[in-house]
This record gives sequence, structure tokens and C-alpha cells, in this order.
Amino acid sequence: MERKIILSEKEMPEYWYNIVADMPNKPLPPLHPGTKQPIGPETLAPLFPMELIKQEVSTEKWIDIPEEVRDIYTLWRPTPLYRAYNLEKALDTPAKIYYKYEGVSPAGSHKPNTAVPQAYYNKQEGVKKISTETGAGQWGTALSFACQLFGIECEVYMVKVSYNQKPYRRIVMNTYGAKVHASPSELTQAGKQILSQNPDSPGSLGIAISEAVEVAANDPGTKYALGSVLNHVLMHQTIIGLEALKQMEKAGDLPDIVIAPFGGGSNFAGISFPFLRLNFEEGKSIRCIASEPASCPKLTRGVFRYDFGDTVGMTPLIPMYTLGHNFVPSPIHAGGLRYHGAGAIVSQLLKDQLIEARSHFQKECFEAGLLFARTEGIVPAPEANHGLATVIQEAKQAKEEGKTKTILFNLCGHGNFDMAAYEAYLSGKLVDEELTSDQIEKSIAQIDHLQV
Ligand SMILES: *Cc1c(COP(=O)(O)O)cnc(C)c1O
Repeated sequence: MERKIILSEKEMPEYWYNIVADMPNKPLPPLHPGTKQPIGPETLAPLFPMELIKQEVSTEKWIDIPEEVRDIYTLWRPTPLYRAYNLEKALDTPAKIYYKYEGVSPAGSHKPNTAVPQAYYNKQEGVKKISTETGAGQWGTALSFACQLFGIECEVYMVKVSYNQKPYRRIVMNTYGAKVHASPSELTQAGKQILSQNPDSPGSLGIAISEAVEVAANDPGTKYALGSVLNHVLMHQTIIGLEALKQMEKAGDLPDIVIAPFGGGSNFAGISFPFLRLNFEEGKSIRCIASEPASCPKLTRGVFRYDFGDTVGMTPLIPMYTLGHNFVPSPIHAGGLRYHGAGAIVSQLLKDQLIEARSHFQKECFEAGLLFARTEGIVPAPEANHGLATVIQEAKQAKEEGKTKTILFNLCGHGNFDMAAYEAYLSGKLVDEELTSDQIEKSIAQIDHLQV
């Protein structure tokens, strides 16, 4: 058996899969926070180019990947699919474990899969500058790279705790030509408001989104880009699963379980939606499991509600599993998973029990990441370690039950910029903070007024 299953550039998919076409219950529409009525495309037009707004509401099943985007994709795509023989052996499991490796992209994660088309459509519509937020720094890196390719200026609001934990991430963004600010900053009204309440705020993705949206909303030449959550972002990521499906076919296999870490849902959607299509179309029953941190458990302990996408309340109301937009998770090292809500599509799928979710404490995740690094060789991103924790649980269960099963995992990024996190783990400094039901209820009570 081969360890790596590779596709040629010619075999790279030429379209993205839009799961909305196949969903039994379509995602609910975003609402205007004042009128509580569905918003039209014109509401989003100051923030996004029209082509992306069209994709956001599209119900077409397949959407062409523009040739220019496909050309750039070939800088790193198709990405390899690996069979994790060494990990299987270490776990002494009858389960077969495959992983799709997105860390081979220039940014080191799956994020360029959407950064490139987003920059492309902005360029098509004459946009000069894009503002955005970044948590762990992966999205900021990806967008900085994509903007540079299209000659667009890029301004990044980086969550302060990550800005301090990961100076090298900022320098990579600078290297790609972007401007980077620690968020909350004094540069926006949103940032000033947060700092006046809490000068020591560690920041959050929700706060950084407020800042970046404000910058775009106030400047006609600037648009905004989001690295997760939105329908079009999830769709761009389906190239991961579409490739993986071809690669699994080459290996003569099909997963019983697809597993991915979950922040806003993009890498999970990317790998799992093309397999969910087989459930919808061919009556298969492939389980898809989203892995989230116990300190930010919107899928396993949140509520399904309309809520804001940001902290200050500048975005439309989005139907989502949420912990409340004021929720500030503890500063765990998986910065990319510290977001209060989940995208509308993934939330609807979870509500309809078409996907599953599971949470893990960070020590268990780093233990899983370490085992992976010591067997397969790649040091995974702390976010990816959450998925690995689920993979290992499933592989151990297969062993207990004496059953084989096939697991496909999205190794969505490498952790080469996350040494501070690994150092904290290796020196015994990582802590698992129990989140009480009381804390969650209090945070959710703050969005009671948004009931529709
Ligand atoms: C951004 C990111 C995540 C979380 O975001 P999703 O949209 O849920 O994928 C997870 N892992 C890595 C490596 C990331 O860069």
C-alpha cells in the first residue's frame, strides 16, 4: 500500500460544491438587527464584492472555479492525502487513518483556498484595499499572500493574545506586504470602546471582526474579507473534500468517519461536505464529526439562535450555534478556534443531526498532537490537534470493539509558528479550565433581546 495518494494538477477539481443545493432544510437568512427582516444583497455591498454576495446566497450545486484561481491553486494544490500507518501502529488500532494535509500551502493552512478567490473577485471589481481580522494568524497570512498576488493593499486586525504569542506570524504577514495591528486597537471606535471597558482585554475574533468591518464600512475603496463562517467561504474550501474523495477512490477506500477541527466551520465544511453529498445523493451514512475546544464549546454547549457575528454588534444577525457574541474564551493556544459562533450552514446541519460535534480540553489535544508529530513527523497546528484528539478516541474505540473502520482527518495546518504553545505543553504549563454552566448561561442571557 502507498503511503501518499497524490493527484496530478490535471485532476484538480474545476468547481466548488455548494451543499445548500442538497440540504433538506436550507440555512435561515441573515436578518437586519433593527427590523429583524431578511437583508438584501445591497446591505452587504459596502463590505463584499457582488460576485461573492451572489455565491453567499446561491443555491446552484456546482460553482466554477475561475481559471486564474485554479492557476494560483496549483502553487500548492492538489494537496497530498496520507495514510497514517505510523500513527495506526502506535495506537495498535484496527482502524485505517487517512489525513489530508493542507499545511503544504504557502500560509501553512487551508485558508488560502478561500483567500485567493476572495482577493480575485475583489480585484475584478476594482477594490484597492481589504481589511480583515485574524486570530491565530493563519487567515491574516493567507489573505496577505493572496492580496499581494493581485496587487491589493491588506490591513489585518490580529487578536492581541495571538499578536503577543506569535510574533513570527505578524512578520510573515509583513513579509507578504500587509499592515498588522493588535486588536483591540485605538484605531477604531469599536476598539476604543472595548479598551475603555477593559484596557487589558486579550482580544477575541469577535472584537477584531468589529474593527475590520468598521474600517471597510467607513471607506468606499476598502472591502472586508472573512476567513470562515460565511457560506461562500465554506464553499471555497470544498476543494479539500473533492480532492480527498478522488484520492480515497484511488486508494480503493471510503471513510466511515470524517473528522476536522472546528472554529467557524470552514475546514470542517471543506473536507466533510463532499462526503455528506454521498449521504444525500447515494444514501451513504458517513459520520462527520466537528472537534471544538472545551473552553469555546458553541456546538456542544451553545444555543441555536440569531446572533451577531462580531462582538460590538455591527454585522447582520446570523442563525448560528452560539455562546453569545460577548463570550470571551480563555486564551487557549488554538487561537483559530476561539470564536463564539458557527456558520449558518453548519449550524443548520447540526440542528438537523446530519453532523456531530465533540469537545476536548487542550491538554488532551496537545497529547494527541505530540503523538502525531512523533509518529508521522508533522507538527500539527494547535487547532488541528483538536481533530486529532477525536481521531484517537475513535481509533481506540475501534480497538476496544475489535472493528475496523476508516477515518479521514483534515490536518488543516502545520504548527511551525506555534512553538510557544508546544513549549507551554512540554513544560507542563498548559491548564484545562472548566467552563461552568453558569458562565455559559450568563453569556447567552446577554443575547436574549435578539430573539426573533
Ligand atoms: C482558521 C483555522 C481553523 C479554524 O477555522 P475554521 O473556519 O473552523 O476552519 C482551524 N485550523 C487552522 C489551521 C486554521 O487556520
